Amino acid sequence: MQTSIQLCKFMGIPIRLHFTFLFIFFAIIFSFANWDQTGTRIPLGLGGLELSPVIRYSLSAIAAVLFFFTLLLHEMAHSFVAMRFGTKIHSITLFFFGGLAMMEDIPKSPDKEWRIAIAGPLMSLALGGLFFLIYLGLKALDPTNYRSVAILVLTIGLFNGALAVFNLLPAFPMDGGRILRALLAKRMSFLKATKRAALIGKLFAFALVIMGFSRDPFTFILTGKWSSNLWLPLLAIFLFMAATEEERATATFALLDGIKVENVMRTERATVPEDITLSELVNAMLADKTTEYAVVDARGDLKGFVTLDAVKKIPNDQRYFLHVSDVMIPYDGPRDALLSDAPASEALKRMLRDRKSILAVIEEAGGGLIGIITKKDLSIYIEMLRGGVRVQ
Ligand SMILES: [Zn+2]
Repeated sequence: MQTSIQLCKFMGIPIRLHFTFLFIFFAIIFSFANWDQTGTRIPLGLGGLELSPVIRYSLSAIAAVLFFFTLLLHEMAHSFVAMRFGTKIHSITLFFFGGLAMMEDIPKSPDKEWRIAIAGPLMSLALGGLFFLIYLGLKALDPTNYRSVAILVLTIGLFNGALAVFNLLPAFPMDGGRILRALLAKRMSFLKATKRAALIGKLFAFALVIMGFSRDPFTFILTGKWSSNLWLPLLAIFLFMAATEEERATATFALLDGIKVENVMRTERATVPEDITLSELVNAMLADKTTEYAVVDARGDLKGFVTLDAVKKIPNDQRYFLHVSDVMIPYDGPRDALLSDAPASEALKRMLRDRKSILAVIEEAGGGLIGIITKKDLSIYIEMLRGGVRVQ
C-alpha cells in the first residue's frame, strides 16, 4: 500500500510525505491558533491575543509550514554528511513523529556514523538559536505590534531546541542512541555496542516513566511548576520497543556474518517454466512444499518470479487457463539478483528494503541463473544459526 507521496526533489533526494504527517500538520495549525498562554512562562500560541480568525489561522499555517521546513533541514543535515561519506540517500520521508532519511548502506565505521547522527540535532540547535535571535530582535523593535509574529518565531525556535534535545536522548531510534552506539563501537564490536546502547536506552525509558508519573522537567521549563506528564510513559514504551527491535535486528545481521548467498541459496525446486498454467504451478508448489519460484523461458533464461501471493489473487476456475507469465513479477535486473559469493546479509537487507520474498542468484560471467534465495529459506537458516547449528 502506498502510504506516502513524493512532494519534490531536493539535491536529488526525493522528499516524501507520509499520510500521518497530515494529522500533525493540522494539529499544529489548530493548537498554535488556540493555545492559551495564560499560566505559562513562555508564550507558545496565539490563544491569548486579540486577532481576527483570518490572521490567526494564516499565522498558524505559516508556523506549520516553518515546522515542516525545519524538520526537513534536520534530515537534510544527516543526509548531507552521509552523502559526503559516499552514502546514497534513497529518500527523506516526513511522518507523524518526525523525519526519516532512508540511506543505502549506512557506513559501519563508528567515526562516520556518529558524525551523520549528530548533524541533525546540531542543525536543529542552530535553527533554534537563529529563531531565538530573531525573536529577541522583534521584541526589541516594537513589543506590541510584532507580538503575534514574535510568538510565532519563538515557538519555532523552541520547537527546534526541543527537537535537538529530544533527538539527543541516548535511546534508539533517537539520534542520541546512534551517537552512543557509534562511540561505544570504537571500543567493542558493533553487536556488543548495540546491546549496551539498547540497555542504556531501556534504563532511560524507565527513568522517563518515573519522571512522567511524578515530576516532569519539561513541564517545569514551560510553566515553572512541577507536575506529572503522562506523555512520558507513552514515549518510554515507544523507546523500549525501538531498543528491543534494534537489538534484535543487529543480532540477526551479526549471525549472518561470514555466511554467503551460496550457503543459503537453493538450486533444486527453484524454477518453473513461464508457459505452465497456474493449476500446474499449484501442483508444483504442493509437490515441492515451496511458495516461491524463479520463472524461466524455454531457453532457461530468467523472466521473473512467481509466489503463492500472486496465485491467491486468482479465483480457482481461472487458474486452468491463466499462465505463470500472466501473474509473474517481471525480472528487474541487478536489483533482483545477487552473486553466489555475496554476503547473505545483503540478501536480507534487500528483502527488507524492497519487501521481496525471493531473489535470483546469478553467475558473474554471463549472468545465467544458478539458483534462488528466498526469505523463508533465509529465516530458517537464521533460526538454525541462532540455535548454534553451523556447518561442521
Ligand atoms: Zn535526526
